[in-house]
Amino acid sequence: MAILGPIEGVAPDGTITHSTLTCPECGHSQTLEMPTNSCQFFHECVHCHVLLKAKKGDCCVFCSYGDVPCPPVQLAGKSCCARD
Ligand SMILES: [Zn+2]
Repeated sequence: MAILGPIEGVAPDGTITHSTLTCPECGHSQTLEMPTNSCQFFHECVHCHVLLKAKKGDCCVFCSYGDVPCPPVQLAGKSCCARD
């Protein structure tokens, strides 16, 4: 697969702000911008409209289904909403 130019959405601190979510139901992939200051626990697949939920132990759908974990995990190595 061709790489489409330079990577978009890399923050100055090196955080990748876009993640490609792959729907576990239909296999549809969609690149989305991630919120940098919060976790997105739900995502509705644009193709089959299934509501994806983060897996147990993951803070958000990007950590569960994306090719890039969410910014808080990239920076701190752990979920921004971990309760420890
Ligand atoms: Zn889907």
